[in-house]
Amino acid sequence: MQRVTTLKQLAEAVASARERELEVALVPTMGALHDGHLSLIREARRHTPFVVVSIFVNPLQFGAGEDFDKYPRDIEADAEKLRSMAVDVLFTPTVNDLYRGNMDVTESAGKIGDLYEGAARPAHFDGMLTVVARLFEAVRADYAVFGAKDAQQLFLIRQMAKAKFPNLKVIEAPTIREASGLAMSSRNQYLDAKNLEVASKLLAALRVGQGAGAISPALVIDAVRNEMLKVPEAKLDYIALVEADTFEPVVTGFSGRAVLLIAAVVGQTRLIDNIDIKF
Ligand code: AMP
Repeated sequence: MQRVTTLKQLAEAVASARERELEVALVPTMGALHDGHLSLIREARRHTPFVVVSIFVNPLQFGAGEDFDKYPRDIEADAEKLRSMAVDVLFTPTVNDLYRGNMDVTESAGKIGDLYEGAARPAHFDGMLTVVARLFEAVRADYAVFGAKDAQQLFLIRQMAKAKFPNLKVIEAPTIREASGLAMSSRNQYLDAKNLEVASKLLAALRVGQGAGAISPALVIDAVRNEMLKVPEAKLDYIALVEADTFEPVVTGFSGRAVLLIAAVVGQTRLIDNIDIKF
């Protein structure tokens, strides 16, 4: 595994794949790697043997008072995991390496960027898209792999890629969970045993919504809300049922793939999760 930090080193490493006529896959992460991240690498490998993983905690996507400073960072442990998976290139830029002194937010997540996670975290998605755009420009990959866990993020990245990176194939990988059902997340490190148990109720509530029968969107949401009432330790932010293709709220009569979204704060930690429902 080659570990690079500058854009120039990265371009050279990717060029070596191109010389061998290999396609390139990119897996962007913020590090503190867990099995969810590693599953994205396995997914990337299904498309090409040459995989680039980036680790960068992007200041532009954290709001004031969020956890940028205390976000878990363990680059040596991460590098070891990636080495054991035979990742080709690990890109670990500093803020200056990646942004070259220009931290302008260049991307707009548009109307959907202001809803759900965007409503709770203003400017988060514009900052996220900006770093993803810089990474796409730097790597010029054929594939980029993202987790279904961050469904709204994935939707917005697809939207941006369609408009600005039409040759890039954006690949979705399923959410990897703990045995309790809790979606793996680097932020789960913030949770103690009690809060880990509380956090596992999010999926349980989504499943009750899924079981409510995909007939009426309101019934699905009510079922999840009622289930969350039994877990007052989790401060519910939103439950939403959206069309997978548009992220617009599902209305009665809709037929197709929908995503049931939930966000709650457990202890001090904001958690999100989602599952698919077929209407
Ligand atoms: P992060 O490091 O949290 O920014 O996540 C990097 C990538 O890993 C994103 O595409 C996430 O959606 C994905 N990811 C995070 N957690 C999981 C998980 N539990 N299962 C699958 N993918 C995940």
